[in-house]
Amino acid sequence: MAKKNENARIRREIEQILYEEGAMTRARMSSILHERGNYRSLPSDSSLTSLLAKNSQIVQVGTEKVDMGDGVKNKNIVYDIDREMIRSEEDLIFTRPYSSMSESEKKRATHCPTCRQKRLMKDRYDECLVCSRKGLY
Ligand SMILES: [Zn+2]
Repeated sequence: MAKKNENARIRREIEQILYEEGAMTRARMSSILHERGNYRSLPSDSSLTSLLAKNSQIVQVGTEKVDMGDGVKNKNIVYDIDREMIRSEEDLIFTRPYSSMSESEKKRATHCPTCRQKRLMKDRYDECLVCSRKGLY
């Protein structure tokens, strides 16, 4: 499998984990990915940071103080799926950025007439789920 596809698969896995398990830090995400362990290579800490930060489906919901020992406390960012936008498991697919799509999803994706992003559309004549949900914020 090409590296690009492997990354997209990890992106989808991260979305699914956040959706199912709820808000968590990068360290927790890393350990869950490790437990599931069905990857050629797990993302490094810095690439996991960018996978979490550069996905429009994921939001930062706060910070958690983590004791690093010696009384040193680090603030770790807590991430969650954007629950305003994503309300059911099916919504994950319809709000998915092109970079997270599988090959078969990419083939079915069309341009949203409102935001011009390539998305899987529930109805190809309507706007994408991201646009329709954002209109309601
Ligand atoms: Zn749109």
